[in-house]
Amino acid sequence: MRKKIVAGNWKMYKDKSETIELISQLKEKLSSYTPEVEIIICPPYTSIELAGELIKNSKIFLGAQNMHSEIEGAFTGEVSGKMLKSFGVEYVILGHSERRSYFKETDEFINQKIKRAIEFDIKPIFCLGETLEERENGKTFDVVENQLTKGLSGISRIDLEKVVVAYEPVWAIGTGKTATPEQAQEVQSFLRTKISELYDSEIASKVRILYGGSVKPENAKDLFKQPDIDGGLIGGACLKADSFYQIILAAQF
Ligand code: PEP
Repeated sequence: MRKKIVAGNWKMYKDKSETIELISQLKEKLSSYTPEVEIIICPPYTSIELAGELIKNSKIFLGAQNMHSEIEGAFTGEVSGKMLKSFGVEYVILGHSERRSYFKETDEFINQKIKRAIEFDIKPIFCLGETLEERENGKTFDVVENQLTKGLSGISRIDLEKVVVAYEPVWAIGTGKTATPEQAQEVQSFLRTKISELYDSEIASKVRILYGGSVKPENAKDLFKQPDIDGGLIGGACLKADSFYQIILAAQF
């Protein structure tokens, strides 16, 4: 039985006081009842240290939204896995479509980052997904297979256990358009089969595959009920404690 994950991607939201407010509200809700779900928050770098202190002794894990593949060097504006690790970061979102499109991140670069994250014992939340144009041209499966294969290139079976995959159709991110549970399940079951072909069925059955793209309290349960959807990567709806908590609750059954 795979434990469900609900991860919040704060993106470029929440300054210092808003970080304190959101985390204290979330902790307050979780103090009355915490379901058996792995809860992760991924604040911006500026709030990483503070968030880490605020969630100490809680059931919330700390994640980051990105990292560079190098350990250190002349890369102005970048942050390394070594740095994140020193602040207690346990997960890192890699290959998010906003990084792929706005910052032109390639599959090869994402693959290097995944390897580096694993080296620093940070679990990658490896995002992939097709654009609307690719879906409409019948290319969804080719695109996600290509992203999956390149992203996992050179990653051993043992290391794969640390990787969380997130299927995020680009057309559903931040648009309010959610993939139907059937559409998401179809792709996620395909991804699991591909993982099984790349490695073996035992490890494929252990890898958590999240869905991301306009998940809200109203649609979370139907999505999370699908056999190959092991939780969600949440953008907009994680910015309010109430909606994030409702989604966490939807992940338990
Ligand atoms: C995301 O940023 O990963 C995401 C899924 O965003 P949203 O939930 O807002 O679509």
